[in-house]
Amino acid sequence: MSNQKVAIVTGGGRGIGAATAKIFAQNGYAVCINYKSNAETANTLAQEIKALGGHCILLQADVSKEIDVLRMFEIVDRELGAISVLVNNAGILKQQTRLEEMSADRINSILVNNVTSYFLCCREAVKRMSTRRGGLGGVIVNVSSGAARTGSSNEYIDYAASKGAIDTLTKGLSLEVAAEGIRVNCVRPGLIYTDMHADGGEPNRIDRLKSKIPMQRGGLPDEVAAAIYWLASEKSSFATGNFLDLTGGL
Ligand code: NAP
Repeated sequence: MSNQKVAIVTGGGRGIGAATAKIFAQNGYAVCINYKSNAETANTLAQEIKALGGHCILLQADVSKEIDVLRMFEIVDRELGAISVLVNNAGILKQQTRLEEMSADRINSILVNNVTSYFLCCREAVKRMSTRRGGLGGVIVNVSSGAARTGSSNEYIDYAASKGAIDTLTKGLSLEVAAEGIRVNCVRPGLIYTDMHADGGEPNRIDRLKSKIPMQRGGLPDEVAAAIYWLASEKSSFATGNFLDLTGGL
């Protein structure tokens, strides 16, 4: 095992997570690329990183399940070494609808995938990073959403509320571990070109809405990844409990 710094990116196989995994690998991190079921895109990304001389492992795990999260962190301990960065990025949304149409199953699925998963990964990261427990410190970056502020009415209030919970998690945890060598920060992307919008039933959603964005365009996964990387780097060494909105002015 080398002395390389180690980062885990949940949901790292595509979209914002893939761009994030790439920027960490390009900057010398050994990266654990976690994905849930889409092995093909994750594999393509891993090949790309390796072709550029980067170091990564692919790790299938459903981060909404405690047993999978425990397994993921144990494998990283064994194969890559002590983690210094966790990027909590994995997330889902469902078909656009009004609240009256939301079943308990749907709401619970959103919460377990978008909130429980972040809590579980934070817990395992803190256990390893905290100087109070003999760790070397580290950084956690949570991927929330501009939806936490807007509420996503008529589309997915459940999703927006799950991201509100991530903002609160970020604030609370940042204070809890601030004196233990761990910084916890958050990005709130706006409309970013990824496959996620198709899951809501509207693949071209950004093009419908972009005239409402002050910058008049959607964002790119690389633009979010660069902010995540900055928040994880020493360049932001005095920032904790902070939120960076990447919304083109919305
Ligand atoms: P995406 O393209 O749909 O990718 C989502 C990723 O999360 C995939 O790699 C997926 O794995 C993974 N994932 C989902 N549930 C998982 C689970 N239970 N366990 C492990 N992995 C899981 O989404 P994205 O747009 O890049 O979104 C990334 C993050 O940014 C999310 O938290 C999202 O809420 C947030 N965000 C996105 C936007 C936007 O406009 N795109 C705006 C604001 C915030 P598989 O590939 O295996 O399916």
